[in-house]
Amino acid sequence: MTDPGDGITTIDTAKAHSARIYDYILGGKDHYPVDAAAAEQVLKVLPGARQAAHANRGFMRRAARLLARRGLRQFLDVGTGIPTRPNLHQVVQEVVPDARITYVDHDPVVLRHAEALLRGTPAGRTEYIQADVREPEKILAGAREVLDFDEPVVVSTIALLHFVGDDADPRGLLEALLEPLAPGSALMLSHGTADFDPATMAGIVEIYRANGVLLRMRSHAEIGELVAGLDLLEPGLVALEEWPHEPEDEALDTAGTPVYTCVGFKR
Ligand code: SAH
Repeated sequence: MTDPGDGITTIDTAKAHSARIYDYILGGKDHYPVDAAAAEQVLKVLPGARQAAHANRGFMRRAARLLARRGLRQFLDVGTGIPTRPNLHQVVQEVVPDARITYVDHDPVVLRHAEALLRGTPAGRTEYIQADVREPEKILAGAREVLDFDEPVVVSTIALLHFVGDDADPRGLLEALLEPLAPGSALMLSHGTADFDPATMAGIVEIYRANGVLLRMRSHAEIGELVAGLDLLEPGLVALEEWPHEPEDEALDTAGTPVYTCVGFKR
C-alpha cells in the first residue's frame, strides 16, 4: 500500500471527517466522538440517513456486479471509505475471481484499516493508495502498478464528488481519470442531491459546514454535466430508487434516497 509519508496520514481526532461520519451513520465502529456527534445531528435532520447510506452501498454492489457480469475485471475505486463488508472487491471477485481492484481514499483512518481491503481471492489482486481525488496523476501512477490500462477499467466514485467543490473542477478530475483508460472503460457514480428535499439537504450541508466539511449537493443537470460525453447505461442518470436491479440482487429500501446514480461507458 502506498503511504506517501508526507503528513496527510496524521489522524486529527478533534475534527469530524466525511468517512467517519458516514461510518457512524452506517453503524460502523471506526469513528471518533466528534464524528459521532456530527452524525447524530445529521440523523436528527434526516432520520432516513441510515437507510440512505445503506441504499448507497447497495447501489455500489448492484453496479459493480452488473459491470463484472459484463466482463469488466479491473476497478479503480476512488473514495473507498472505511471498509464495510462486502467491500467492492468481494462483490466483484465473487463474479470474476481474478478481478483486480485499486482502492483510493484520502482519509488516514481508511489507510489504517486498509488490510481489510487487501484480502482478495488468491487469483485476484487488490491494492490501496492513499491519495486525494484532486491528484489524478498520483492515483493513475499508483493504479498502473496493478491495473492494465490496455484493458477496460471501471472508475468508481460512489458518494465521493459531493465532497469536491466546483473550484476543484470535478468534471476535469473525472476526465483526467478516464483519459488514459482503454475504450470500453466505465464510470459508476453516485452523488448527493438537494433536488428532492431542498430544505432538509440545506440543513445537512450546514451541519457538515459547521464541522469543517464541504458538502456540495448537485442538481440533476449539474451531475449530468459531470458525466456528459459518456454513454450512459439505461435508465441514465436517475434517482437511486429508480436504479434497476436484477432478481438476484438483495432487496433494499431505497425510497427517497437523496442521491443520483449512473453507469456510463467511455466512447
Ligand atoms: N464510496 C464509499 C464511501 C463514501 S463516503 C461508499 O459509498 O460507501 C466518502 C469517502 O470519500 C470517504 O471515505 C472520504 O474519506 C472520501 N473522500 C472525500 N473527499 C475525498 C477526496 N478529496 N479525495 C479522496 N477521497 C475523498
